Amino acid sequence: MKRFSAIAALTLLWATGDPAQAMAFQPSPRTSDQSANVVGVAEKVAVDHILDEKLDGLEALYRDLHQHPELGFQEHRTARLLARRMRTLGFEVTENVGKTGVVAIYRNGPGPVTLVRTEMDALPMEEKTSLSFASRAHALLDGKRTFVAHSCGHDVHMAWWVGAAEVLVALKQQWRGTLLFIAQPAEESLGGARAMLNDGLLTRFPKPDFALAAHVGGGMPLGSVVMKEGVILSASDALEIIFNGRGAHGSAPSSAIDPIVMGAHFVSDVQTVISRQKDAATFGVITVGAFQAGSVANIIPDTATLRLSLRSFTPEVRSLLLNGVEKTAYGVSMMAGAPAPTITRLNGSAATQNDSELMARIAPALKSAFGQGVISIPASVPGFSGSEDFSEFAAKGIPSAYLMIGSDQPEALAAYKAKGIAPPTNHSPLYAPAARPAIRNGAAALVWSVLSLNGASPPINELAAKRKVRCGL
Ligand SMILES: [Zn+2]
Repeated sequence: MKRFSAIAALTLLWATGDPAQAMAFQPSPRTSDQSANVVGVAEKVAVDHILDEKLDGLEALYRDLHQHPELGFQEHRTARLLARRMRTLGFEVTENVGKTGVVAIYRNGPGPVTLVRTEMDALPMEEKTSLSFASRAHALLDGKRTFVAHSCGHDVHMAWWVGAAEVLVALKQQWRGTLLFIAQPAEESLGGARAMLNDGLLTRFPKPDFALAAHVGGGMPLGSVVMKEGVILSASDALEIIFNGRGAHGSAPSSAIDPIVMGAHFVSDVQTVISRQKDAATFGVITVGAFQAGSVANIIPDTATLRLSLRSFTPEVRSLLLNGVEKTAYGVSMMAGAPAPTITRLNGSAATQNDSELMARIAPALKSAFGQGVISIPASVPGFSGSEDFSEFAAKGIPSAYLMIGSDQPEALAAYKAKGIAPPTNHSPLYAPAARPAIRNGAAALVWSVLSLNGASPPINELAAKRKVRCGL
């Protein structure tokens, strides 16, 4: 593989305006005192130049997606749009993988297969930003009409995913292997990754050696890239519990088995799983987010339905919470002399873990490209309490890296700080990332990560290893 003369490459870039040619120009091996994977001037100029050229188109794509958000497993227009963009770039595209998922493959000789994932789904909520292109879209969710908005920033992710593909295709002389770009449905409900896996993602297509994803981080300044060792996001489990009672007139409670009283006991008692059973030094959350029962004042209903969200970082705490919730629900029912509760697992995904070897491979290039913006957080520091189903890929044995990309103008963050107000972040109706620079940074982070893995850095690329040439890409 090649190491470029920076001056020659810059000269060619200015002369031809073609960064791909500039990067391919004047190969010369990296000297032994230079570490592999560090971004050289020519490489950075080339990536930056291509991104600058593509940014108007990527921003237009982002605004289109922002104005046409779609809920999980309903991303038909979104998937079509992305599939078309990737086909135009020369990817082999398969649609409807895991309902609405898209798999786009670019083969570029022998080498690693690198999965790069974006999510496609939006949230069932009303956007309240004052953006000129704010979403006013609606959709049906469980039969009810709801607003829909890209308030988690998945529209930014889709734009930088396409941007990364555009740069990598333009620079295809600089890497080898296969790109497996996937656009995943339904991340918010944690079902999309599993749907794609169950639909043969790892058997119908080249099996990935690595998996990469990035998420835009509200409240984080532009230019920041969080590299968290170990667990970055919590495990998430959603449960529905139906307390089965016996209905009666409100004036005759002794004729009833009151499911509302059972539910009320449960809501309080279940928190002792956190406060008395879980090690106080470990992270765990149990939230009862929905409690639905009854309709009028003078009827004791038959049932009460509760929905819970459980969060944890370790498999041990995860099973402690699941068992604790179940035991509490059965205990409450038994105390009331009621039939057993009906407990349904709605969804669940493990904690998102970053593979330390993979992180070490991509870190030098990211640090070179983003300098002080790279925030390295050791494994000993707890992860974020939010969750992701990107963990499904690691659960299949694929080394994974999940980056957080800053989305806010530093001046805007400073203004919020001066007022003592927390800035709106992901899932806020007011979240409005500085999309254009965030798209550029996210695309660059993915490009540098892929080039670190699929470039000629020995021993990953066999061809380069055979030539005994060390290389920066
Ligand atoms: Zn998200």
